[in-house]
Amino acid sequence: MIEQDFKDKVIIVTGASSGIGKATASMAIERGAKVSFVARRESELKTLGSKLSAESFEIIPADLTKDEDRKKVIDQTVKRFGGIDVLVNAAGIIGSGTIENTTLEFWDIMMDINLRSLFRLTQLALPSIIERKGNIVNVSSVTGVRAFPNVLAYCVSKAGVDQLTHCAALELGPKDVRINAVDPGVVLTNLHRNSGMEEETYQKFIEHSKTTHPIGRVGKPEEVAELILFLASDRAGWITGGSFSIDGGRAQTCAR
Ligand code: NDP
Repeated sequence: MIEQDFKDKVIIVTGASSGIGKATASMAIERGAKVSFVARRESELKTLGSKLSAESFEIIPADLTKDEDRKKVIDQTVKRFGGIDVLVNAAGIIGSGTIENTTLEFWDIMMDINLRSLFRLTQLALPSIIERKGNIVNVSSVTGVRAFPNVLAYCVSKAGVDQLTHCAALELGPKDVRINAVDPGVVLTNLHRNSGMEEETYQKFIEHSKTTHPIGRVGKPEEVAELILFLASDRAGWITGGSFSIDGGRAQTCAR
């Protein structure tokens, strides 16, 4: 039964204060999990927790670009719940820039949260995940597998997430640990607004996205959370090393 998928399982969800991470965290609890909510904004994590039973979650405010905060996420989860079964790496940012105008500083900021922090948090979680024969789900993007202009550093960071997933799957398979990635198209969250996009530009982008996604609409965070939680569940026990498109067909489009 889907409601029992995560009975007695412990899940860390990064980016739980908003969008895809938030939807994943609350749906995981509905399906029986104990969940650590991780993001910088404690107030948003508290708001999420206010509708849920206090035994089912732990709030861990953390800036994942800081090593002491990454360690805190692992230590606090193990202390509170006894171990880690699943790590969902959903925290991330987007920003625009081309090969010519992307500064080294901007490149470093993008890589730091989207790829470097994900790599290090995964490393820190692995001893417990290996012990419990658990799994990892990384939130990448259609930009990890397809090229788009003017989001160069973001695309490269997400390609890194996909390839980290593929390589680690080969190394972790013999330890009975699975690792997969999801590659969403445009999803209605705060990602683009947080990148500094004006509201009017954002609304135009969402409208235009209806034409760039063959299914004719953008995605909802809950739709991506469904795929994340399927991959995290035992029902996906023979799936590892995959990057799964969830994008209304966007990854299959090409210029004509
Ligand atoms: P949101 O902006 O709604 O959520 C991003 C989350 O990441 C927030 O919870 C934010 O929390 C957290 N975060 C950002 N920086 C840090 C940091 N330094 N430390 C800890 N947490 C951080 O966007 P989405 O839900 O859309 O994004 C989730 C993932 O999905 C991202 O990896 C994104 O690249 C990916 N994605 C999104 C798509 C979309 O169209 N929305 C498409 C494809 C992929 P806080 O600010 O509280 O720290």
